[in-house]
Amino acid sequence: MMQTPRQLAFVLAAIIGGLSLVLQLSFIMALRLEESAFSLLIIPFIIFGATYFAVANITRNYIQSKIDVLYRTIRDFKTNSKSKYRKKTSNARDLLAELQTDVADWIATQTSELDSLRQLEQYRREFVGNVSHELKTPIFNIQGYLETLLDGADDDENVRQHYLQRAYDNADRLGTIVEDLNMIAKLESDTLQLVQKAFDLRQLLDEVFADALPFAQANHVNLICEPSKMLPIMVMADRDRIRQVLTNLITNGIKYRSNDHAFVRINAFETTDNWLIEVSDNGIGIAQQHLPRLFERFYRADSARSRAAGGSGLGLSIVKHIVEAHRQTIHVRSTETIGTTFGFTLAKE
Ligand code: ADP
Repeated sequence: MMQTPRQLAFVLAAIIGGLSLVLQLSFIMALRLEESAFSLLIIPFIIFGATYFAVANITRNYIQSKIDVLYRTIRDFKTNSKSKYRKKTSNARDLLAELQTDVADWIATQTSELDSLRQLEQYRREFVGNVSHELKTPIFNIQGYLETLLDGADDDENVRQHYLQRAYDNADRLGTIVEDLNMIAKLESDTLQLVQKAFDLRQLLDEVFADALPFAQANHVNLICEPSKMLPIMVMADRDRIRQVLTNLITNGIKYRSNDHAFVRINAFETTDNWLIEVSDNGIGIAQQHLPRLFERFYRADSARSRAAGGSGLGLSIVKHIVEAHRQTIHVRSTETIGTTFGFTLAKE
């Protein structure tokens, strides 16, 4: 079978050269020419050579021009150029086999892009479902309390106060969910620009502790800051975003406390390039089966408690996004009824 332009050229050249040889021989015989005429037999070989080169080049150029069009079409569709366009394949043995390989590569790229588009679509559907589920509960609660008040429960001062407070708490929760969603959207679309500067984490810890103190005291949780007040912890990071990381982790430590001698403790350990910051508590802990999915948005190990505490289920996923935006890592270890430790790294200044 002829598979390459050269094979085709060889066969055609052999046929034409052969024919001209036979013709020439028959002329020499028929006209009984002198022996010197045999030297003219070189002509069929020249015809063979010329035909071979002409056919090989014309066919190659013709196929190449068709392949160029195909590649252009492929490249127009390509968003992720994995297979490189091999322009002049002068050493190529088999242009069509090359084309086949490249088209197979291209199909593989397209298929994986389609797969990730399908995954994105699935993710979008889940996300919309989760968001409406999260928003539904507080909205229905607010409606319920207001309806009860409208139906006359406001006659009793205590009941009115109670229902108004519950409606307010639910509105507050709606606000938290919307704020967290906004933050997640920014983090996931990369529109949130980090402003990284050198600062002393020790000072930031004081500020975060001061803000968290009323919530901790109201829940009888002791806040402990282990790193010495005297030694600065110089890091290179976005101070406001790290404040949010610390606030979310400390608030969780308080929300998921256990009753006896509850505490949330911060520690900092120096490594060669980084600081490792740990936020530990002796709270309810998290069962091992939840740990791998804990940083996913809307994932809750203890749904009832999370909702009762006004959680959006987005706190840890925001924390992870922020830490990873700094090109750092976060991990969790936990034992049920014993406590939980979140550890994340920050670059040293
Ligand atoms: P939430 O708003 O529900 O607190 P998070 O994303 O902050 O959302 O946390 C996800 C889940 O992880 C929580 O619902 C809770 O079940 C669990 N969790 C987080 N921090 C702790 C902790 N310190 N101790 C026990 N469970 C925790």
